[in-house]
Amino acid sequence: MSALPKFNAYINGKSEPPSSGGYFETVNPYTSKVWGHVARCNAEDANRAVQAAYIAFTRGDWPTLTATQRGALVHRLGDLIRDNARELAEYEVRDNGKLINEMLGQCNYLPNWYWYYGGLADKIEGAVIPIDKADVFNYTRHEPLGVIVCITPWNSPLLLLSFKLAAALAAGNTVVIKPSEFTSTSTLKLMELVEKAGFPPGVINVVTGFGAEVGAALVEHPKAAKICFTGGSDSGALVYQAAAKGLKGCTLELGGKSPNIIFDDAVVDDAVKGAISGIFAATGQTCIAGSRLLVQDAIYDRFVDKLVAFAKTARMGDPMDTATQVGPVTTPPQYRKILKYIEIAKSEGAQCLLGGDPGSGPECGDSQWFVQPTIFSNVTNTMRIAQEEVFGPVLSIIRFKTDEEAIEIANDIAFGLAAGVWTQSITRAIKVSNAIRAGTVWVNTYRAVSFMSPFGGYKKSGLGRENGLEGMREFLQTKSVWISTAADVPNPFVMR
Ligand code: NAD
Repeated sequence: MSALPKFNAYINGKSEPPSSGGYFETVNPYTSKVWGHVARCNAEDANRAVQAAYIAFTRGDWPTLTATQRGALVHRLGDLIRDNARELAEYEVRDNGKLINEMLGQCNYLPNWYWYYGGLADKIEGAVIPIDKADVFNYTRHEPLGVIVCITPWNSPLLLLSFKLAAALAAGNTVVIKPSEFTSTSTLKLMELVEKAGFPPGVINVVTGFGAEVGAALVEHPKAAKICFTGGSDSGALVYQAAAKGLKGCTLELGGKSPNIIFDDAVVDDAVKGAISGIFAATGQTCIAGSRLLVQDAIYDRFVDKLVAFAKTARMGDPMDTATQVGPVTTPPQYRKILKYIEIAKSEGAQCLLGGDPGSGPECGDSQWFVQPTIFSNVTNTMRIAQEEVFGPVLSIIRFKTDEEAIEIANDIAFGLAAGVWTQSITRAIKVSNAIRAGTVWVNTYRAVSFMSPFGGYKKSGLGRENGLEGMREFLQTKSVWISTAADVPNPFVMR
């Protein structure tokens, strides 16, 4: 093996080589070159990590910390992320090829999750129940679940991890993380900060490798209490089935095919930017991509002309260059999938107004995985290009006439992650937002997320919520404690 950096798993507070001794390559999508080797963990490593997390949950320092002390540790991790955001972002770009502007923006914003949930740790209050029985004192406690398995995808590794990790820790759980095999290194770098922050060994562990080899073993592990998964709907369904066998809770954040609806009273220039941000930001590799653009008949032609003109100016290039607007696709399978969908769209009769080919030219460097920003019009909602997630810079434009038709098209899909609504009418904005079956609706904006606001999917886009107070509840369970204040124990043969 060459002198490229080597990344081990992180188990029980230590850098650990995989038990198989094997490593896999991690590739920079812009140079198409291998830049490091990552531990190829298996079921044995999964077991070591879950056991370490279980021991840390049940014994030692972690369960004896007060909620305030626990919160302070989580907060401290946020401070360290703030101080190291640039380095973390560079690891992310090297692995996933997304723009440094985007990844640095995310990494600079990440500390908020740790500060918010760190602050919340000692504000989770139970209740004293005014119970309907004499001589009983009854109260509730909100307690952690145990070992939480966090499985993340490659598109925003640390952001999507932080949705889970900050809340899980603040609630008092311990964690085993399995990052995507395409983007393991930023999560492993984060462990250096975890150690500096002073978390007891075993509270946070990372095993790297492939879904079938190590991810599945984590999900099936009898000591894993809950699975928090972000990824594709097919893998999500497998994870859900495996978790069900062990009767474990699951949070699933899955795919999307989100409608971005442009009404005829929208501010056209703003809506054009909203459409661009919905599909070409992050090279379309975001679960919340506004990949179905619904445009009202009266402004259709004018809007589409402006959109295509704007999209033509999008600069492909080196993701580390802050002037670049569209970077490479992250993985070869994803690249092939996008090109396949472009062919499907053409064969279905959609009209290709822009792009439709692999990206090439000096701006693409040595990368073999650029796809031109692509726009299809004349799409109907029954076409596969309108119904299936592409996860790339490919936009499908659908024409509609009335508000009712827009709502019908928006909801006529298996997914329900997000939606955009562009209108100057507050009545229309509220009516349409209420009618859309999706976990997030943006009005006159797109692609905004916050640590404070619940995020998750309707329908096949997922189960459960991350972020905000609801995100914290996902990591707690309620215990009801009954204390008798009676002078004696009443008739033991009758329910009290
Ligand atoms: P993926 O489903 O292929 O992989 C996600 C993670 O799951 C990886 O770490 C992978 O190794 C692991 N995995 C795969 N099969 C597994 C199994 N059987 N058991 C346990 N772990 C398994 O997804 P991806 O290609 O990395 O990411 C793209 C997908 O993620 C897209 O569909 C996108 O919409 C979705 N996504 C959703 C959200 C959201 O919040 N809803 C956010 C980002 C991405």
